Amino acid sequence: MKNNTPLNVGITGGIGSGKSTVAKIFTILGIPVYYADDRAKWLMAYDTKLKSAITANFGEESYLSDGTLNRAFLADQVFNDSEKTTRINNLVHPAVREDFEQWVNQQKSPYILKEAALLFETGSYEELDLVINVSSPLVIRMTRILLRDPHRTEAQVHAIIDKQLPDEQKNELAHFIIKNADNKLLIPQVLKIHDKILAKIAAKNSD
Ligand code: ATP
Repeated sequence: MKNNTPLNVGITGGIGSGKSTVAKIFTILGIPVYYADDRAKWLMAYDTKLKSAITANFGEESYLSDGTLNRAFLADQVFNDSEKTTRINNLVHPAVREDFEQWVNQQKSPYILKEAALLFETGSYEELDLVINVSSPLVIRMTRILLRDPHRTEAQVHAIIDKQLPDEQKNELAHFIIKNADNKLLIPQVLKIHDKILAKIAAKNSD
């Protein structure tokens, strides 16, 4: 890491673990957050090069007549087809990586956060300096998701969870864990990690 480029810190967690909520607390501390999953959706909808590649691979039906992404069609294509999942990931991930690198180079803070649901599953955590896992019991996550996303059924949420690495494994791979259960306050946990990251950066810069 060069002294003038921010340290890249990932923030991940299973669906509904609260990673976006935690990321917002870091934003209040002045830490910029790159929301990789949202940005991937944006790039799929608007990035000309990526749109052409998706159309070439999955057909004209990938975009609706008004040019917007045909989410239902693509979700249907990839959800239960691992070959197609790999194919779309191989198109989207490099585009996100490039976009992320450009974004990082514009940031002036000591560190930045990259928020994504599948940092470990995709292997992209290996490109980051540190990773925070937001960990929350399954039953709490399910309750919160069903409240937040009334369009989802419990079975659909389980199907997504089944494709994610179990929390215990994420905790083992992470440098920091934030516990987001009903009896745990988030802000003190975030402040502690923020201080630890700044201390690591200070130590590195004094080398
Ligand atoms: P996804 O993987 O679906 O993007 P996420 O991990 O980013 O989800 P959030 O959207 O941050 O999770 O949180 C899921 C829901 O739970 C949201 O409605 C959020 O407001 C709520 N929530 C998160 N943490 C807490 C908390 N500590 N107390 C109460 N509600 C919470």
